[in-house]
Amino acid sequence: MKSCNDIPFSNKDRARQLNRISASSSIDLIVIGGGITGAGIALDSSLRGIRTLLIEKGDFASGTSSKSTKLIHGGLRYLKQFEIGLVRESGLERAVVHQNIPHLVHPERMLLPIVRDGGFGKLTASMAVGVYDFLANVNKSDKKKVLKKSEALAAEPLLPASRLEGAVAYSEYRTDDARLTIELIKAARRNGAEAFNYLEVTGISGNGNDRNEGISLHCKDKLGGMEISFNARAVVSAAGPWVDEVRSLLGPVLGKRLYLTKGVHIVVAHKDLPVKSAIYFDALDGRMIFVIPRTKVCYIGTTDTEYKGDPDNVKCSLDDVQYLLKNVNQYFININLELSDILSSWAGLRPLIHEEGKGASELSRKDEIFISSNGMVSIAGGKLTGYRKMAERVVDLLQEKGMVSSASKGETKDYSIHASPFRNYEEYNSFKDKLFLEYNKKGVDKDVVTYLLDNYGKHAEYILFHTNYNDDINRSILRTEIIFTLDFESATRTDDFFSRRSGLLYFNPDRVKRNFDLILDTFAEYFNLTPVEKDQEKERMIRIISETTGFE
Ligand code: FAD
Repeated sequence: MKSCNDIPFSNKDRARQLNRISASSSIDLIVIGGGITGAGIALDSSLRGIRTLLIEKGDFASGTSSKSTKLIHGGLRYLKQFEIGLVRESGLERAVVHQNIPHLVHPERMLLPIVRDGGFGKLTASMAVGVYDFLANVNKSDKKKVLKKSEALAAEPLLPASRLEGAVAYSEYRTDDARLTIELIKAARRNGAEAFNYLEVTGISGNGNDRNEGISLHCKDKLGGMEISFNARAVVSAAGPWVDEVRSLLGPVLGKRLYLTKGVHIVVAHKDLPVKSAIYFDALDGRMIFVIPRTKVCYIGTTDTEYKGDPDNVKCSLDDVQYLLKNVNQYFININLELSDILSSWAGLRPLIHEEGKGASELSRKDEIFISSNGMVSIAGGKLTGYRKMAERVVDLLQEKGMVSSASKGETKDYSIHASPFRNYEEYNSFKDKLFLEYNKKGVDKDVVTYLLDNYGKHAEYILFHTNYNDDINRSILRTEIIFTLDFESATRTDDFFSRRSGLLYFNPDRVKRNFDLILDTFAEYFNLTPVEKDQEKERMIRIISETTGFE
């Protein structure tokens, strides 16, 4: 019998666990927000021995941290804004995140085409990428390569030959933002942290500057409806686009505030946009757009427009989608994508810091820390890529201010995030071959092995081992996979599984549609849902699937 070395993480026994933690006086730090920023802080602090509780109002990573371009990158375009510090930090972090969780952070060769009248001339592109490689200390084999026009066209025949002057090939990493967030939360829990999804902070009282008093967070359990409070010496709000909303629970928001911009991505079949590698190309309005191939699809993004609506209800509009389609169609040869070619889409908010007189694309992506009068620390801005350094800065600050005490400094640089980590990418590749050899005999496709391995790392083996091969194999694997996320990843609603644990709704929406009943039944059975509750979940599934695979 193959066992799983993850610790159980299930919402089956939720009420008892919530009451136990609320009654305990042993929490040092509460983190509000289960996106990448909060998850990184929870891991850093728990590794320092600080007793940490993370609270997330929706599902983990349901905010911006499942809606990004999913790149671990230095942000080449920020060089144009002379954000050298930001580019250097995220450039260096790429290799660290890759090493710390290789199955989730894959090397991706990118092509930056140089076109007549484009944003980068040949010399500036080559210099920019050279500086980028230098800042990120990129190893020799990954360094940039300048391609002549003929070489660029051979590398990518879809490029616009009449305007093309050449290209620069360089290296980035591709990830799954939501899975990275969830793995960080699981790692924090293995180190003693507690974490709850579907728990919303609705009120804040007390004073963290007073050692004896501390801060109390009043929360609503969005699943059971219970009101519950927690007290800790220190509180960090990592609420992303909701940082100002959380700050406003203390009174009017003073000083710096957020500026939200919306970014949209669309997904099409790879056969409809058959690029050979990821491409970072000039949009008609001078911005830059990514096209990123991923398994049998390709995703395109992003937009960057000011957003003043409700952060809980961000949608891809027809304008957003048409902007992306128009740019792809005008740029690539013989590509004519239509609305009906879009398989899925997602929209997210960048929690940027407002700067007087600056528009969406000009604002810095640097993170910023705010301290409220009651001692609550908020952090916003930044990038997925820089989560580790952001977390280190926040926990260092809490330590310096005496809000938490720990004998140790941050230990995340060499920390392997997964419970059964790969030592390096070579081991990931050989494990994939081994798993395929073993399970191909039982009828499992290589694509399925790769998909499971890229999502769950070595726990793919646990899922494959527990599959019932007497049933329809693909359905049986899916069912075992869902149960894994229910038992070990706190999946609670069906979309927790098909959007954020597996990414299936974005990258293989047909599999979700084909297995609608199986997914619903597995959840209903696990949580013992009443027929009414099951019907409500079914309605929810229908709504989310139609919103993600269609648009306004
Ligand atoms: P979030 O992920 O939004 O997390 C905040 C969480 O707080 C949410 O889950 C929310 O539900 C929770 N919360 C809010 N209020 C409460 C409350 N009252 N109680 C409890 N919980 C609460 N970065 C990169 O490095 N690479 C990229 O390729 C990249 N692409 C991007 C593309 C787009 C379109 C966008 C929008 C961003 C991109 N970024 C990228 C930036 C990156 O995604 C964000 O910086 C990062 O995800 C922000 O994470 P966060 O944890 O701060 O916020």
